[in-house]
Amino acid sequence: MVIKPKVRGFICTNAHPAGCAENVRQQIEYIKGQTVGSESTGPKNVLVIGGSTGYGLASRITAAYGYGAKTLSVFFEKPATEKRTGSAGFYNSAAFESFAREDGLYARSVNGDAFSNEIKSRVIDLIKADLGKVDLVVYSLASPRRTDPETGETYMSTLRPIGESYTAKNLNTDTQVVGDITVEPASDEEIANTVKVMGGEDWALWMNALNDAGVLEPGCKTVAYTYIGDKLTKPIYGHATIGKAKEDLDVKAAELSSSLDIDARVSVLKAVVTQASSAIPVMPLYLAILFKEMKAAGTHEGCIEQLDRLFKECIYSSSPRLDSDNRFRVDELELLPEMQAKVEKVWPIISTENLNDLSDFAAYQSEFLRLFGFAIEGVNYEEDIDTEVENNFI
Ligand code: NAD
Repeated sequence: MVIKPKVRGFICTNAHPAGCAENVRQQIEYIKGQTVGSESTGPKNVLVIGGSTGYGLASRITAAYGYGAKTLSVFFEKPATEKRTGSAGFYNSAAFESFAREDGLYARSVNGDAFSNEIKSRVIDLIKADLGKVDLVVYSLASPRRTDPETGETYMSTLRPIGESYTAKNLNTDTQVVGDITVEPASDEEIANTVKVMGGEDWALWMNALNDAGVLEPGCKTVAYTYIGDKLTKPIYGHATIGKAKEDLDVKAAELSSSLDIDARVSVLKAVVTQASSAIPVMPLYLAILFKEMKAAGTHEGCIEQLDRLFKECIYSSSPRLDSDNRFRVDELELLPEMQAKVEKVWPIISTENLNDLSDFAAYQSEFLRLFGFAIEGVNYEEDIDTEVENNFI
């Protein structure tokens, strides 16, 4: 079928297999072009939980192509059906496995609910059979819901401020209209549910299960990702339901590092366009402005550039960039006071009329489409293409 993007609000409901493959290839090429640490100091056997899109996929690519690591990834993605294309993460992962195989790199993937006990056991069996042990576990899940594996109860996360309602500028990315949005404060139950979904409970369950099964190398490293941001995003992120969930990651990192023979750290990454971030109110407008300013400053980065630096400058550095809470930081260029001041200066005056002058909305939009394999140079979008792709997922 000829596949054109079907964008509905902040999601695109289809994906292009050849475009997704090209997107993965370009990220691989980026990492191949970097001088990365030597294999002896880098990861060898890596598990990426949430490794099919966004930061998790970039983590997998960096580990494999920067350090020659064997990678095993878990994700929750949809294959194509007669009527629908597969999801972007499905195509990305099939493409990654095929590139890795061609390049002689081990790559296996488990497609299923990472929150469940069943998928944890499936992954552990695979590690035992193929890798023996893992020395790096990347936790990069972003999900709107989680079913507790013990009680069977399903919790939903929400993106709401805490305490009082928050009114801010917001960009409707469909209509390109800049308007105001008011988000009502979360109830105590909504806060608790968001912590249940996006906090550290499942990360800790994973690490304990892997440890109990004897598949963690002594001193195994594990990272979970967070965003902190500054004035413009704090009310809807840092000081909001998702921020509360992320605070729980800090608690779990400390508990895991003291109770198991592992080094567990939260890693703070910059704001980028991913399927998860495009759903957060305020974020698309903030990103469109940030892109323009960071490009002008020559400091613009996407997922793969961030992960290259996270591995080099933090996880596998002898002098990692740490903050006072022992978190790895690679968000420093976004948070430079002069960079934030530039974005804050534009914020009050940006409107529908001057959107394209004061921000780089075109770049935002093209990054968004790229997530689904569209708007990628070198891909023939007029071509009739098979939506089913070969895969070896378990
Ligand atoms: P994303 O939407 O691109 O990726 C989410 C991943 O989670 C996908 O691989 C998906 O398949 C997987 N997933 C979701 N539910 C699952 C389930 N039940 N079982 C198995 N896999 C499941 O998101 P992202 O933006 O790359 O986010 C990854 C992490 O990075 C999150 O913790 C996020 O908060 C953090 N982060 C994101 C940003 C940003 O700007 N996007 C910034 C800093 C930190």
